[in-house]
Amino acid sequence: MSTDTPQSGTNADTDADTDDDAAVERRSHEPLVRVRNLQKYFWENDSLLDRLLGNDRVAVRAVDGVSFDIYEGETLGLVGESGCGKSTTGETLLRLQEPTDGRVEFEGQNVYDLAGEALTEFRTDAQVVFQDPFSSLDPRMTIGDIVQQPLDIHDVGTEDERRERVRDLLERVGLSVDQLDRYPHEFSGGQRQRIGIARALALEPDFLVLDEPTSALDVSVQAQVLNLLDDLQDEFDLTYLLISHDLSVIRHVCDRVAVMYLGEIVEIGPVADLFEVPKHPYTKALLESVPRASTDERERDRETLTGDVPSPRDPPSGCRFRTRCPAVIPPEDLEIEQETYRELMDLRQRIEGEDISLESVGEDGQFALEDGPVPEADVPAFVAALKERLLDRDLPSPHDEIVEEALAELATSDWDAAAERLRAEYESVCERAHPDLRTDEQSAPEQHRPVACHLYGESPPNAVDPSSWRE
Ligand code: SF4
Repeated sequence: MSTDTPQSGTNADTDADTDDDAAVERRSHEPLVRVRNLQKYFWENDSLLDRLLGNDRVAVRAVDGVSFDIYEGETLGLVGESGCGKSTTGETLLRLQEPTDGRVEFEGQNVYDLAGEALTEFRTDAQVVFQDPFSSLDPRMTIGDIVQQPLDIHDVGTEDERRERVRDLLERVGLSVDQLDRYPHEFSGGQRQRIGIARALALEPDFLVLDEPTSALDVSVQAQVLNLLDDLQDEFDLTYLLISHDLSVIRHVCDRVAVMYLGEIVEIGPVADLFEVPKHPYTKALLESVPRASTDERERDRETLTGDVPSPRDPPSGCRFRTRCPAVIPPEDLEIEQETYRELMDLRQRIEGEDISLESVGEDGQFALEDGPVPEADVPAFVAALKERLLDRDLPSPHDEIVEEALAELATSDWDAAAERLRAEYESVCERAHPDLRTDEQSAPEQHRPVACHLYGESPPNAVDPSSWRE
């Protein structure tokens, strides 16, 4: 950023130059897209019949309060496991779906307030390239007509001018104008994605949402399409939101990346920094789950992701990652190894979900609770059999005794008492308090970046303005 200050008495040309520089400087720091607390819920049990039957509406929280900025000319990546809300975020900010709450500004205007010509202009300026080139192209249309369709809908130019634009676009994306009258099935996957890109560019947009643009393609073709997108970004001054579950794609293409988990952003920052020093335990686990080429790297300690992503119908309390987090925080005064604590939390979660079969416990199904409670004299053997089945490691005292007390409650199928015994000892701050995104100021200044995790910073959370997230 220039620190030059205009001097008094400078001539008009210098003033104009300074104004231009200031405008460029201002533009490059103004977000093109500003997303604030965006929510998109889908509702279940929402029919008239459900209402008549008195069924409660259930919210599926696909996107639950995300905030970020996208700056002109940059590529922001949105990464996370399948089902984390990435695509819904992209569709909602393009207004292909209406939000439940929140605000999206495009060039300073709230897109959810737009109507008439202003909405048409937004739909021209902001386009999408879909994941699946096989299903996103109408098989009955020639590729010339497919690419021309947005120009026809928006009534751009004369028929000849539109055809000329289509020819130009096909050449820009590496296809031949001789192929204008062919149909999508005559093209390879990579070529079809090039057609989809040409269609998205037809109206000369400023902003593209690229929704898994290469995930349906062979590895050899993926690089070609990514390089094409890179070239087109320079050529047409485009700004991208790239949605991908593939970290290698994000690393190759993006300037910054936002990591999503279960409808929320858990970390955001420059790609190079985030890959070098990931902070959020989910980001670390995602990076660790990428296959490694070198033996050294393969042998390094890895925090792998285990367990399934919980349902967005009933997300965990507090931190949504706490049911899988290898770093979940034990109570302050508890002396326990981290892996042991994780195992105890897993056991507690299974008890809370009644996710342990008690139909046949012990050798040859010695204890079968469907026949009634385990006789008191047999409870120690029942508990020993359960421990053997459920735990991977021997527990030190007093955890061994606490677990035995909890498992003994299962001898009478009292799941609540068993869960309560473990909760009383092992409840974590991670389940009591939701960690907001806040800048981690404990690390070196060059590694300051917003992270949603209780491991960083003091409570209560000190949420930050997303405008300050660009480093
Ligand atoms: S808040 Fe707790 S559970 Fe969530 S990521 Fe941080 S340490 Fe893990």
